Amino acid sequence: MKIVSSHQEIRSLSREWHQAGRTVGLVPTMGALHRGHVSLVEASVRQCSATVVSIFVNPIQFGPEEDLDRYPRDFDGDVEKLRDVGADALFTTTPEEMYPAGFQTYVDPGALGDGLCGASRPGHFRGVATVVTKLLNLVQPHESFFGQKDYQQARILLRMVQDLNLDHRLRILPTVREVDGLAYSSRNQMLTPEQRREAPKLAAALQEVRKAFDRGERRAEQLQDLGRKQLEGSGFRLDYFEVRNDEFLAADALLEDGAVAAAAAFLGKTRLIDNVLLGSAQSRLG
Ligand code: AMP
Repeated sequence: MKIVSSHQEIRSLSREWHQAGRTVGLVPTMGALHRGHVSLVEASVRQCSATVVSIFVNPIQFGPEEDLDRYPRDFDGDVEKLRDVGADALFTTTPEEMYPAGFQTYVDPGALGDGLCGASRPGHFRGVATVVTKLLNLVQPHESFFGQKDYQQARILLRMVQDLNLDHRLRILPTVREVDGLAYSSRNQMLTPEQRREAPKLAAALQEVRKAFDRGERRAEQLQDLGRKQLEGSGFRLDYFEVRNDEFLAADALLEDGAVAAAAAFLGKTRLIDNVLLGSAQSRLG
């Protein structure tokens, strides 16, 4: 596996692969890789003939009070995992190279970026859409791979590819979970043992909402109340627990097949997010 940190080098490597007729897959990450990330890399290795994984903790998607400085980093462990799974290149870059003095052009995802995580993290999705656009331009992949775990991000990026006429296939893969249901996240490492014991309650609350939907409940308010109640008395401090319709994440009173239940909540300083699709929505993604 090649480790590439220069923008020029990743461009020429990708150009070589294109010329050799290889399909290039990109898996953008912020590192501290876990089994969720690995599942995306495996999918790219299966479906593309050259896979680039990027590791870049993107400062412009963090707010001033957020955990940029505490964000977990494990470069050596990441390299080992990527070698094991058969990635062809690891691309790392720096904030100075990505955002040199004078940088001022951003990709604005519009209303899709305003609610849910966007409400408590203003500017977050602008940072995400901008860095993904830059990575797509640098690596020039045919396909890229993202997780359903970040559902709002997935919807924003699918929309962005369409709106900006990007010649690109973006794939969204299912959330990988620990045996107790907790979605893998780099932030799980920041939990104390006691918080780690509480953590699966977020996924469990979402599953209760899914069960109620499967029993026929379609009223958004009832489903949200049910989810919020599940977390009362737990160690979580809720940021939001919401159900939304369709690709625009519409806050309708009645839900349809393809809706999502999504939640964000804090255990101490650590903010966890998770979601479940309602009905037979999975087939509609990516
Ligand atoms: P991050 O490093 O957190 O920016 O995540 C990089 C990519 O991995 C994003 O597309 C995430 O949606 C995806 N991802 C994170 N956690 C999981 C998980 N538990 N299962 C599947 N994909 C995930």
